[in-house]
Amino acid sequence: MALDAESRRQIAARLQYYKDMGIHDFYRREGAAPRESAPAGEVSAPGTLPVLSDKVAALSAIRDDIGDCTRCVLHRGRKNIVFGVGNPEAELMFVGEGPGADEDIQGEPFVGRAGQLLNKMVEAMGLRREDVYIANVVKCRPPGNRTPEKDETDICSPFLLRQIEVIAPKVIVALGAVAAKTLLGINDSMGNLRGRWYDFRGHKLLVTYHPAFLLRDPRQKKEAWKDLQMAMRELGLSVPSKEPS
Ligand code: URA
Repeated sequence: MALDAESRRQIAARLQYYKDMGIHDFYRREGAAPRESAPAGEVSAPGTLPVLSDKVAALSAIRDDIGDCTRCVLHRGRKNIVFGVGNPEAELMFVGEGPGADEDIQGEPFVGRAGQLLNKMVEAMGLRREDVYIANVVKCRPPGNRTPEKDETDICSPFLLRQIEVIAPKVIVALGAVAAKTLLGINDSMGNLRGRWYDFRGHKLLVTYHPAFLLRDPRQKKEAWKDLQMAMRELGLSVPSKEPS
């Protein structure tokens, strides 16, 4: 079915919007029949385009609800809202704390040094960054990369919870204490929190060390790898016997 110039322009604009939100992969819904072309002058509503999944539309609605957010003080210093990135159909979702300087500039989570390490962790699991979904508890950079305050995580985390609900991953990996505490409501040491499964609203959740912490204390990478292996088993991924370098 040939598209007219206006439909092509609208689709391009919509795709750019999703790209800006960090969504790069699109799936045709199973069994979706090709639509009849709209009568001349009639334009299909955004979000009803047949190539876009319901999950993409639902994520887009969450991003729309965040809007140009001023709900907490973190908006004051931000350059970009860092919504989330990855495959809306991901079986594995990582949850970090909040954007740092690089993420604030690029509008994408985990793109700085900690992000490079997270990418390596994902690859060691036999996956690509594009296969998983990555989001943070707070969507704006805390000044000087300080830990987000409770009122900030309270205000922002409902958006993360909605993202989790839409992605519906099999496994959630909470990176560090802020993500663990926000999602589980447990205030404990990382040593006690990690290495076991939790039920989070019907999703399996485990806690591991934040990549930024692993950069500071690389000896703990061994322990983090044990956590990732647990996730791999749960996801049915083959677990290499050798520890990644
Ligand atoms: N640390 C986080 O917790 N999230 C990011 O996106 C980057 C660094």
